[in-house]
Amino acid sequence: MSDEIQALEAQLYMQAARRLPVTLVRGEGTRVWDSDGKEYLDFVAGISTNTFGHADPGLAQAISEQAGTLIHCSNIFFSEPQIELAQLLIENSPMDRVFFANSGAEANEGALKLARKWGGVRKNGAGEIIVTHNGFLGRTMATVAATGTPAYREPFEPLVPGFVHVDFDDIEAVQAATSPQTAAVMVEPIQAEGGIIVPSDDYLRKLREWCDEQQLLLILDEIQVGMGRTGTLWAHEQAGIEPDVMTSAKALGGGVPIGALLCKESANVFEPGDHGSTFGGQPLATAAAAHVVRRVIESDILQNVRERGAQAARALGALGEKHAVVKGVRGRGLLIGLELNDAIAPDVVVNSVGRGLLLNPVRPDVVRLMPPLNVSAEEVDRCVEILDAAITEVTA
Ligand SMILES: *Cc1c(COP(=O)(O)O)cnc(C)c1O
Repeated sequence: MSDEIQALEAQLYMQAARRLPVTLVRGEGTRVWDSDGKEYLDFVAGISTNTFGHADPGLAQAISEQAGTLIHCSNIFFSEPQIELAQLLIENSPMDRVFFANSGAEANEGALKLARKWGGVRKNGAGEIIVTHNGFLGRTMATVAATGTPAYREPFEPLVPGFVHVDFDDIEAVQAATSPQTAAVMVEPIQAEGGIIVPSDDYLRKLREWCDEQQLLLILDEIQVGMGRTGTLWAHEQAGIEPDVMTSAKALGGGVPIGALLCKESANVFEPGDHGSTFGGQPLATAAAAHVVRRVIESDILQNVRERGAQAARALGALGEKHAVVKGVRGRGLLIGLELNDAIAPDVVVNSVGRGLLLNPVRPDVVRLMPPLNVSAEEVDRCVEILDAAITEVTA
């Protein structure tokens, strides 16, 4: 059956991205099953979206109750779940205002529009936004123009203008790129798609100081690193700073598509007519996200992220003593990159998948691990055991 689906996909679907040859049909917690009945341990979690794993009963109930009440009503009207989620996010972040979108790229698109308008009305028409090489902000026209990977943007020229790219983790490069035309600096607290690149401890603090001094908006993309993934609700908490604008998505809906654009009152320049979305902030998605946020805040799941993250980092680090190809481990909490000395991450992943472990080769030499935030100690041990065997076989 999976062969049939995969053959049809090759014929019907735009071949815009590569897939692993696995057809998933159901899941439970950190486990998923394919159409042949084979079981896998899921350390991809929908690319860091399935906060509580698969088929979580609480989330399923929140979705089903809302689906049986009011799925969608348009932003022409008010709705309760939307404002309940807004309140949860505002009370649990340094932000004052929120706008809901349907995805990460869309939330970032809103952040870029907000920054352009802010520069227009508050900074003499300044419209340039400083972004980073190797960064990832999404796949829409503005976010590909801002992306730091040339291959993602070059086929789509002419690009949205006004983005200045500098090296990540280089405050002097940001300073040198700043001009009277600069409105904002937009970075990820950790470059995730870029290969789990954690900047120096003082990078975000120095960016904050520079933005204050130069009157620039500091925009943080918390789409992958936020919502508990790195062991605190937001990654910027660990740097002891507050952004002016930030975006969230991925884990926010626990697997249901939703994105959020948040800002301080000082950056709140949108007026009626400036931005909108048919589905953004609809009752179904916001009811799901409200359930997710409430549980992340009220449970001890962040402690689990820190403990399982430390456990995984230790165990993966120990693989370095056994395998010459293992160079090191980087990341925070449960966003982990296993760095290899050779471009064999895709082979290691294919081998692991054969052994019943789903992983992602985020770069040719980096395997990314991003299990559900409620992953157990036994599941982390099992993952490292399988990876150990996979690396042994691939390097034999
Ligand atoms: C995934 C991701 C995006 C894009 O989100 P989509 O929901 O795929 O549009 C943007 N920024 C970061 C850091 C991401 O990880």
